[in-house]
Amino acid sequence: LQFSSFNLSEPILTALEKAGYHTPTPIQAQAIPIIMRKRDVLACAQTGTGKTASFALPLIQLLLDHRMHRAAGPQVLILAPTRELAIQIGENIDGYAALTPVKHAVIFGGVSINNQISMLRKHPEILVATPGRLLDLLNQRAVSLSSIAYLVLDEADRMLDMGFIKDIKKIIGLIPTTRQTLLFSATMPKNIEDFAQSILTNPERITV
Ligand code: AMP
Repeated sequence: LQFSSFNLSEPILTALEKAGYHTPTPIQAQAIPIIMRKRDVLACAQTGTGKTASFALPLIQLLLDHRMHRAAGPQVLILAPTRELAIQIGENIDGYAALTPVKHAVIFGGVSINNQISMLRKHPEILVATPGRLLDLLNQRAVSLSSIAYLVLDEADRMLDMGFIKDIKKIIGLIPTTRQTLLFSATMPKNIEDFAQSILTNPERITV
């Protein structure tokens, strides 16, 4: 199996070649076609399996496919538990989307909010965020989630362990229910299963 067997555009395939990716990892082989078919996903996957590219690549492609009717606000929201993970996801997207017009912003706490507000003014299509700082920015009306069409929860078990459940529910309440939702978690205990059931619609399950 090759990346070229997915319906990914030339600029994405070239970026993958440059990054030295030759074959999709198992999670990528499973998730990419499902996400491009616009299905919700419940994935059990650890860090190191290539899970970031498994959601980032098809989402960048979906954004490229729908650029004709582009909304004013961000269309993709990726929620992550920590600033380290948010930054890492942002760096990956930077590489995968480098040859495309797709822009992203990374939002996390512990640093000045003003730079992040200026980044949001540049109309990024993709927002990578930790829950607390995103809520701050929403309260300041520096960003709106009304045009989010794709929601990703990365390391959902860790976000719930860190006590983000209320924040996440508040954030999801501001996103249109017509969205496509992807939930990734290293473990799948009952509280994650229940939470996943409450936010996903008829998800395809992936385990690696
Ligand atoms: P992740 O599980 O998303 O944290 O990815 C783990 C590491 O694997 C990252 O450094 C990625 O850049 C790298 N990676 C992801 N997918 C591939 C692939 N198909 N081929 C080679 N490296 C990859």
